[in-house]
Amino acid sequence: MKKLSLESRKNSTPLIIPVFVMNSGCPHRCVYCNQKITAGNFPPEITKEFLDAEVHSYLSWKKDKQRNVEIAFYGGSFTGMDFAYQEKLLSWAYSFIQKGLVHSIRISTRPDCISEDNISVLKNFNVTTIEIGAQSFIDDVLQSAQRGHDAAAIVRSMTILKDHGFRTGLHLMAGLPKDSKEGFIYSLDKTVELRPDTVRINPVIVFRGTTLAEDFRKGNYKPLELDETVELCRLAWQKLSAAGIRVIRIGLQTTPEMEKDGAVLAGPLHPALGTLVLSSVFYDHTMKLLEKVSPEAKELHFNLSEPDISNFRGLNNMNISAIKKLYPRTKIIVRSIEGQKRGAISVSADSMGSFTVEIPGWGR
Ligand code: SF4
Repeated sequence: MKKLSLESRKNSTPLIIPVFVMNSGCPHRCVYCNQKITAGNFPPEITKEFLDAEVHSYLSWKKDKQRNVEIAFYGGSFTGMDFAYQEKLLSWAYSFIQKGLVHSIRISTRPDCISEDNISVLKNFNVTTIEIGAQSFIDDVLQSAQRGHDAAAIVRSMTILKDHGFRTGLHLMAGLPKDSKEGFIYSLDKTVELRPDTVRINPVIVFRGTTLAEDFRKGNYKPLELDETVELCRLAWQKLSAAGIRVIRIGLQTTPEMEKDGAVLAGPLHPALGTLVLSSVFYDHTMKLLEKVSPEAKELHFNLSEPDISNFRGLNNMNISAIKKLYPRTKIIVRSIEGQKRGAISVSADSMGSFTVEIPGWGR
């Protein structure tokens, strides 16, 4: 069978086939981690039969034949696993690349499990993207989370990966014990300096069976509220996107295990956190635009690109309701305009001219 052409696929978002290795390779457990709840129903050890069945099941409902396909080993510290197990998984995944059914492999791992010695094997099996669990760049915060590595390890791992030409992703967390808004912003600045290709941001959720659950029960840990989470994630999205770094996920994917009684003790778990954050980005820019408009205006006309309308309105029209509170006697009209740039919000009121604000990095 023919290999898939990278050129014909480079603009599409890949179909990712996630395979969770369930804490394999982790030297110990971070305080917030419960893979049985966050990953879902994966076996403790991945067999060839299991991997083959997963890949074929994803491929069977893939509609866009031109779309990139990646097998992703998540949920543990891939390069910290027993080397023979790494090789087995990589060779089974690579056999799909050889058949032309899958394009590449990505893994996630810890920063202290990346070294010059252990990455050459990844190249041999066409691993193209490596996601690093950074979580924070503050040593005290990393220590409280029992990560077992410091911020310098994140910088070292990223330097090695970039020197060897891997695409890189970083994972960050909001609301870690001993972290603060300033601390989170510091971690974002450090992330911008390292220039990963992508970032995922997750707020800390208190799951059953974790050290954090004990701390929470004893009153020693207080999770973020949802509105604080949205604000921190909005700041993150704005800073990273303006720097040309793609934020590929905000918030955990919900699993059936999370919905079971007692699985989630506390924390800002929301099925549409990403939508809340993106619409808050629109709201934030709209507020800047409205500084130029009198609260006595009779009509406000907002013009946007069609795909941006739902983020502009917000979940359940929450942004429109907030604007109405500021302009209680004003008629608000929202229109999609052909040719309007993605991420551009234009407003005109009564006889005044039109003002536009653009969201840096939107639509990348
Ligand atoms: S390194 Fe990642 S997978 Fe392993 S325990 Fe920590 S958070 Fe969980």
